[in-house]
Amino acid sequence: MESDIKKAEDAPPQKKVLIADRKALLRTFIMPENDAARETLLKYMEQILFGLHDFLKKNVGITEEKSIKELSVFFEETRISENPEKRLANVITDLIEDIAPHAVNVTSPYFIGHMTSAIPFFMVHLKTIVAALNQNVVKLETSKVVSVVEKQVLAKIHRLIFRKKETFYKKYVQDISTTLGCFVEGGTTANLTALWVARNAAFPPKNGFRGVEIEGLNAAYKAYRVDRSVILVSRLGHYSLKKSGGVLGIGNNNVIPINVDKNNRIDIDCLRQTLSEIKQEGNVKILAIIGIAGTTETGAVDPLKRLAEICAENKVHFHVDAAYGGPTLMSRKYRHLLDGIELADSVTIDGHKQFYMPMTCGMVYFKDPAFLNNIEYHANYVARRGSLDLGIKTLSGSREANSLILDSALKIMGSQGYALLIDHGIETAKQFAEEIERRDLFQLITTPELNVLTYRICPKPMGEALASGGHEQKMRINKELNTINRTVQRIQREAGHSFVSRTVLLKDNQPENEIVVMRCVIMNPLTDMRIINKILDEQEEIYKERDSNDPPA
Ligand SMILES: *Cc1c(COP(=O)(O)O)cnc(C)c1O
Repeated sequence: MESDIKKAEDAPPQKKVLIADRKALLRTFIMPENDAARETLLKYMEQILFGLHDFLKKNVGITEEKSIKELSVFFEETRISENPEKRLANVITDLIEDIAPHAVNVTSPYFIGHMTSAIPFFMVHLKTIVAALNQNVVKLETSKVVSVVEKQVLAKIHRLIFRKKETFYKKYVQDISTTLGCFVEGGTTANLTALWVARNAAFPPKNGFRGVEIEGLNAAYKAYRVDRSVILVSRLGHYSLKKSGGVLGIGNNNVIPINVDKNNRIDIDCLRQTLSEIKQEGNVKILAIIGIAGTTETGAVDPLKRLAEICAENKVHFHVDAAYGGPTLMSRKYRHLLDGIELADSVTIDGHKQFYMPMTCGMVYFKDPAFLNNIEYHANYVARRGSLDLGIKTLSGSREANSLILDSALKIMGSQGYALLIDHGIETAKQFAEEIERRDLFQLITTPELNVLTYRICPKPMGEALASGGHEQKMRINKELNTINRTVQRIQREAGHSFVSRTVLLKDNQPENEIVVMRCVIMNPLTDMRIINKILDEQEEIYKERDSNDPPA
C-alpha cells in the first residue's frame, strides 16, 4: 500500500532484528533523559499532529476506492510476534501512511452523513494530556483533584440543562453524598444508566423485599404484584433503548414504540391511547416515558413540556434522550427548541457528538442529586462508603478523565463559541432544505429542526404519479425510488469525494410505506452551501448516468 505522505526522514533505519530485553523495555517505558532522545520523541509527536492533519486536509475524499475485501487480506496474521516487530518511528509512519488513508476522513467538510465527525484541533492536544496523566477516575486514589474537576463540570452541564438556583449548585457542586450525574462511555450506556436507576426507583425495598437491584425482577414483580414493566418512547427512539430493555431484564418487547406525527415527533394522542390501554391491562409498571431531543434519524425534538406533564400526571420517570441535541442549549437563538428539558428526571448527552469531543464520552444527568443512590455499589479496595470515589455511582469501572477534556473545551470555546457551531449547523441545514426544494430532481422529506435533514431523489414525473396515484401505484413507485436512492447513495460513497448517509423512514407510520432517504448532519463549520451544491450536483450526475445505463423498470 503506497501513499503520498513522505516517509519520516528522521526515523532511524529499521534494524534487522529487534530484541525484547530489559534494556529495551526500560527505554520504551520511561521518559528519555537525554536531549537527543527527547528531540526524537518530539519529532514523532509533530509527525502525528501535523503529518496526520496535513494528510486529512489534503485528502477531502471520504475513503480511497480500495474495498474492505481488498484491504482485509493485509490483516490476516493472527500470531503475536515474540520479539518486537517494529520501532515506534516505523509504527507511527505505518499508521500515518498505511492506515489513515484507508480509514474514513471524518474531518472533511464533504462528510455530512453522521453525528460524529470533525473535531477542533485542540481536542487532540487535550486527549494527549489525558493519556499522559492517565488518571483513573473510578477512585480518588488514582485521580485526586481530577475527581473534583469532574464534579464541577458535571454541575456546569447540569446547570445548563436544569437551571437551578445558585444556592442549589453551591450546595451540591462538591457534595460527597450526592452526584448531579456521571460520565460514561457513550449515549448507549448513558441511556442504560438512566433506565437502570428508574427501574430501581420503581421497585424499591418494602415489607421484607430488599429492592430489585438485590433480589431481581422476579421477586420485584411478586412483591409489587406486577406482570410486566414497560418503557414508552417514540418509534424513532434510538436502538440503545431496546438494548436497555434487554439488559435490564424487562424484555425489549416492553420498550413500546409510539407512532410519530407528520413532523416525526411523538404523537401525544397515540401516547395517551397506549397509556390508557396499559391501565386497562392492569398490573403493568411504567418505568419511564422518554422524550427525544434530536432523533438520530431526522433530528426531530419531541414536545418535551407536554411529555413532562403526562409523566407528572402519571407519576412516571421522565427521561430525555438528548444524546445528540443537548448542546443546542448553549445557543441563545435555538435553545428554546429544547424547552421542557429542565422538567426531565434524567437527561442523556453525548460529549463526542455536539460537544465535539474525541471518541468517546457519554453523560447522564439527574434532576435529583440523590437519585443515583439507587445504583450505589461499594467494594473494600475502591468506592469506599462516604468517600468521594466517583466509581460508587456509575455503571463504568475504570475510566479516563473525560471531564478534563470537556472542562477545558468549555473554557476554550465558551458557550458562545459552541453556539456559533450549533447555529451554523442549523442555519446551513435550513439553506440546504431550500436548495432541495429548488431542484426538480429532489424531494425534501424532513424539514430540519436541528441540523439534520432527510430528502430523496424523486424525479418530477414520479413525484406527480405519487401524488395522483392509488395505493398500489404509490407502493410501486416508492419501491422504484428506494432502489434509485440506495444506488445513488452507494455509488457516491464508493466514489469517495463526499458522504451522505441513508436510512429508511416510514411514511404515515405505515410499515408498508418504507421510503429510503438520504440523511445529512451538518456539524462541520467548513461545510457551506458551495460544498452542499457540489454534493447535490454529484448526486444528479450519478442519477443521470445510472438512468441512461439502467432505465427503471
Ligand atoms: C447517538 C445517539 C445515541 C447513542 O449514543 P452512542 O454514543 O452512540 O452510544 C442515543 N440516542 C440518540 C438520540 C443518539 O443520537
